[in-house]
Amino acid sequence: MDCLFCSIVKGEIPSTKIYEDEWVYAFADIDPQAPFHAIVIPKEHIASAADITAENSYLLAKVYEAIAKIAENEKLSGGFRVVNNCGHDGGQTVGHIHFHLLARRNLAWPPG
Ligand code: AMP
Ligand code: ZN
Repeated sequence: MDCLFCSIVKGEIPSTKIYEDEWVYAFADIDPQAPFHAIVIPKEHIASAADITAENSYLLAKVYEAIAKIAENEKLSGGFRVVNNCGHDGGQTVGHIHFHLLARRNLAWPPG
């Protein structure tokens, strides 16, 4: 299967690593929308939030454990935002579930 983020996990496409553990990989977004913008993904391919099941939902906990560690490592003490775009109307452009971790600026709410 041809998946951009699976290729990044395998190291076939270069990325700037921010965090890695057994389950999760995080890297710098190529088109940052905030001074700190990481993409956090489960290493296992899951297409989108619509594909979460009882079998793979533990990976979401692993993603959020990783996010807490990244926030500590990167000293995101001012807070941060986690965004998951799902499907066409949700603005998802890469078909491997991912979580945008945005920080180091005041993020507007509602996001528009
Ligand atoms: P989304 O629109 O939610 O699917 O987000 C996809 C994100 O992946 C966008 O913010 C892109 O800038 C980012 N992106 C796409 N290709 C790469 C890449 N090769 N390395 C890092 N980030 C990427
Ligand atoms: Zn994938």
